[in-house]
Amino acid sequence: MWDEYLFPASVEEALEMLEAHGGEARIIAGGTDLVLQSQRGQCTARVMIDITRIPGLDHIEERDGLIYIGAQVTHSQVATSPLIRSRAGVLAEACGSVGGPQIRNVGTLVGNVVNALPAADGAIALFALDAEAEVAERAGRRWTPVAALYAGVGLCTVDPCAAMITQLRFRALGEGEAGAFERLAKRRALVLPILNTAAVVRLQGDKVERARIAIGPVAPTPFVATEAAEALVGQPPDEAFVAEAAKLAAQAAQPRDSLLRGSAEYRKAMVEVLVRRALWRAVLQEGEDANS
Ligand SMILES: Cc1cc2nc3c(=O)[nH]c(=O)nc-3n(C[C@H](O)[C@H](O)[C@H](O)COP(=O)(O)OP(=O)(O)OC[C@H]3O[C@@H](n4cnc5c(N)ncnc54)[C@H](O)[C@@H]3O)c2cc1C
Repeated sequence: MWDEYLFPASVEEALEMLEAHGGEARIIAGGTDLVLQSQRGQCTARVMIDITRIPGLDHIEERDGLIYIGAQVTHSQVATSPLIRSRAGVLAEACGSVGGPQIRNVGTLVGNVVNALPAADGAIALFALDAEAEVAERAGRRWTPVAALYAGVGLCTVDPCAAMITQLRFRALGEGEAGAFERLAKRRALVLPILNTAAVVRLQGDKVERARIAIGPVAPTPFVATEAAEALVGQPPDEAFVAEAAKLAAQAAQPRDSLLRGSAEYRKAMVEVLVRRALWRAVLQEGEDANS
């Protein structure tokens, strides 16, 4: 499938290798997407640059209220991390729902983002958390919103034949905040979801201060239901307002008719159900945290 398989010892060496091969080399991490794409002829890179032995890309850590996740971190590591479970439970739930144990043990969260599918479970939670990605290029490193990495179905604005993502970061959920992830799929394992959603809410006293809702796959890229989230702000987090927000999210979502995933009508109806569940679980969870 490829002619060469290289192991750079640093990010800088990986970038040099990419440059030296002029677009014919590509970053590979867990390979759960890329190997299949190579087998199907969808990836024509001749050289694979494996980043899994580069020191310093395996961290899950909190600094100054921000959580950082390195490019080698797998879905299993995210799902079982005590830090993620306590400060960003929505992401632990999302990564814990990816594929089966074998896929979760090798597939990385960053690879999930770069693969750029609107149904990607980990990415949906990162959208709800308003996460950013650190992009390393020959010119230097920069932070960019994860939402800005999506240019369409399977299209990432970071070209893995020229650059790499080294880590992700987002604000740890603090006092008054909680999140939840919901997913609908034909089987519980080994398939991309029919729908998924991640919601994060922040409560101040008995009112919603902030909400963010991400939904997939209902558009070419993960969809952020801004209007639905804004409708909650300033309101008490009761069932009526949560139901109204879920209705608004379903109205804004644009799922397509799909032979694999069901009719647009069915999926729109299910968006409302999933968003309501995710929001309500987040609200209840926050209540439990506040009382514990
Ligand atoms: C059987 C099966 C079931 C699956 N189920 C699910 C599921 O339920 N939910 C879900 O969301 N996904 C699922 N997936 C998809 C896949 O496992 C995830 O997208 C995974 O997170 C990809 O990570 P990886 O490390 O394997 O990426 P790779 O396959 O190594 O790479 C994926 C893409 O990202 C690029 N890349 C990887 N790392 C970097 C980096 N650091 N910088 C720049 N580019 C990079 C590669 O060049 C490639 O384009 C499934 C896959 C399989 C095979």
